[in-house]
Amino acid sequence: MRLTVVGTGYVGLVVGACLAETGNNVVCVDIDERKIRSLRRGRVPIYEPGLEELVRRNQTEKRLVFSTALSRAARKSEVVFIAVGTPPGEDGSADVQYVLAAATELARAMHDYTVVAIKSTVPVGTAERVRDVMGRATSQPFSVVSNPEFLKQGSAVEDFLKPDRVVVGADETRAREIMRTLYAPFTRTGAPIITMDCASAELSKYAANAMLATRVSFMNEIANVCERFGANVDEVRRVVASDGRIGPSFLFPGIGYGGSCFPKDVQALVHSARKGGYRFRILEAVETVNGSQKRRLFEKMQEVLGSLEGKQIGIWGLSFKPRTDDMREAPSITMIEALLDAGAKVVAYDPQAQRSARAVFGSRIALVSHSYDALKGVDALGILTEWNEFREPDFSRMRSLMRAPVIFDGRNLFDAAQMRAHGFAYHSIGR
Ligand code: NAD
Repeated sequence: MRLTVVGTGYVGLVVGACLAETGNNVVCVDIDERKIRSLRRGRVPIYEPGLEELVRRNQTEKRLVFSTALSRAARKSEVVFIAVGTPPGEDGSADVQYVLAAATELARAMHDYTVVAIKSTVPVGTAERVRDVMGRATSQPFSVVSNPEFLKQGSAVEDFLKPDRVVVGADETRAREIMRTLYAPFTRTGAPIITMDCASAELSKYAANAMLATRVSFMNEIANVCERFGANVDEVRRVVASDGRIGPSFLFPGIGYGGSCFPKDVQALVHSARKGGYRFRILEAVETVNGSQKRRLFEKMQEVLGSLEGKQIGIWGLSFKPRTDDMREAPSITMIEALLDAGAKVVAYDPQAQRSARAVFGSRIALVSHSYDALKGVDALGILTEWNEFREPDFSRMRSLMRAPVIFDGRNLFDAAQMRAHGFAYHSIGR
């Protein structure tokens, strides 16, 4: 099929490249000219495992091209995906102005029946609004479907190629069948294509993310209770996780969730519910708990080290989770801002997020290109992201580099007794 993807960010680029991989001709469109220029040269502006090879291969085969001209691309497309950002507005609601702008531009360009698939995470009722704005801008036939995306940054390509399920909200059979055909190559192993009305599809994305965020905040509270009573959250987690009704995912305590999705989607669902006359009290608490958990490791540092004025703190891990360079809403930002406010000096290392960190902090922190360089002469190390390369370090080398062997581990990477045996004062979460 001939496809257009509007918005070539973390989602749009992965969607475009994966759909090209199954033989479709895809144009990825963005308003960011620099991004499109760099993609045309085969340079992928984000870090996502497997993505660069996929993009290059499909570019070489000419199935994947990049453009800033939506109208030209859309004219010839059978399906147009909208994957632009839906950032939080001042009041926490999802701002759908970019979705509506793209839909309007697209409507003006369409020449024939087109399926418009909304991939961006949007509040209930957005498909309806898109239908309205497009209907006012064109007399061509079209269908709007809701096709929320469930890929995870860090394994986005793998997730798109092998989804747990594909959700299609569609009111018309013709559009539903086109979406089925498009997704058939990804669901051959039995993953279901779940079809429903648009409103349910829109809400299902928020429900899934809100449930995951709730599990994270719930386990973080369990960890905090463990600390009060000398219990070990690892043991508690093993018991909870082995309950077949609960399962093991998303039960690791830490320093709160971040990223471009959970914080924004939790807020947006709270806001949508309120607009519908319902107060979503659990999610309000999830958000509050997450806000305080992001400060938890900093508070531990203060408790143990006293005043942080003039202290040198090493940081391992800046991205909001491993295998991505994304620092949007990362707990590392909260932590490092608190350290800087308290007068500490920060030297940080991340395998992929150095560039993102430079954009956030400028020259306010030192960034180094090797993990051990972030340890030289430091009064303590804070571990903020669970990158694999941090899991089995050379502990004696670490100890010899640090001014004081003190570790604050926000991701519970190590065994507490072993760390004591290695000669570290070791502080983690819920143990
Ligand atoms: P992003 O910020 O990485 O990318 C959005 C892109 O859209 C940017 O490159 C921007 O320049 C472009 N854009 C904005 N307006 C445009 C327009 N009118 N025409 C063309 N391009 C335009 O965002 P993202 O992380 O890819 O997220 C996109 C959407 O997908 C959001 O609604 C998000 O909630 C949702 N989502 C994200 C993830 C994730 O893991 N990042 C997962 C599932 C769903």
